[in-house]
Amino acid sequence: MTLITVPGKEVADFRGRLPVRKGANGYPNRPLEGITMAVIHYSGVDADSSATEIASYQTTKTSGDLFPECAYSFVIRWDGRIEQCHNLEKRSWHAGGRNNDLGIGICLPGNGWPTSHQLDSAAALIRALNLTLNRGGEKPSLRIAGHKELSATACPGPYWDIWKQHLVSASPPIPVVLGFRQLYDYLGEERCGAPLTPEQYDAQGNSHQIFTRCEMRWDKAENRVWISFNP
Ligand SMILES: [Zn+2]
Repeated sequence: MTLITVPGKEVADFRGRLPVRKGANGYPNRPLEGITMAVIHYSGVDADSSATEIASYQTTKTSGDLFPECAYSFVIRWDGRIEQCHNLEKRSWHAGGRNNDLGIGICLPGNGWPTSHQLDSAAALIRALNLTLNRGGEKPSLRIAGHKELSATACPGPYWDIWKQHLVSASPPIPVVLGFRQLYDYLGEERCGAPLTPEQYDAQGNSHQIFTRCEMRWDKAENRVWISFNP
C-alpha cells in the first residue's frame, strides 16, 4: 500500500519507523473493505506531540493497554502536517474490540481544541480516505466518530460536539480533474440532490453550481473543487 495522498497537504511517512514494544507481536492486517469509520482521538496533553513521541509513550507504558505499536494510523500536528503511522490495512488498537476492525484511528494531539490547521488537514485526510477506500459513492462515506461515541472515555475532549461539525460539513479539496458532472456522478444523486442551476462561470473563470443538497465551487486560482453539503 502506498502512502496516502492528501491534496494540498504534506504527509510524512512513519510506517515501519516508529518505536514498537520489545518482544510483542505487531498488529495483524484486516480487509480494507471492512473499514467504515474514521475515529478521532486527542492526546489529552497540551503539546504538539509527534507520532514518534506518542508511539514511544504507548509502547513503553507498563499499565493499562500495553500497545504493541502506535495506536493511531495518523497523527495530525498543530501546523497541519499529517504523519502516517500505519498502512490502512493494519488493525491497530485505538477504540476497542470491533471498532478496531471498522475504524481508522486519527489523533489530533492537544487538549481537545484543535488548531485550524489540524481541523483543515483532518477534513482533507478524511476526504482522501473516502476516495482511497472507494466510499462516498455507492458505499456510504466513512462515519466520523469521536472515540467517546464508541467507548467510555473523555477522548477527544469536551468540545468534540462543536468541532465535529467542522469535520462533517467541511469542504475539503477534491482534485479538479473530476469536474462537476463527474463529481456529481461519483457522489450520487442521493448526496448531491438535483441541480438547481447550470454550472456558471464568473469573470475570473471560477465556476459554481447549486444543487438541492450541496454547492460545488471551482477555485481557478487554487485549481481545486470545493463542495459544501447542506446541513
Ligand atoms: Zn481516543
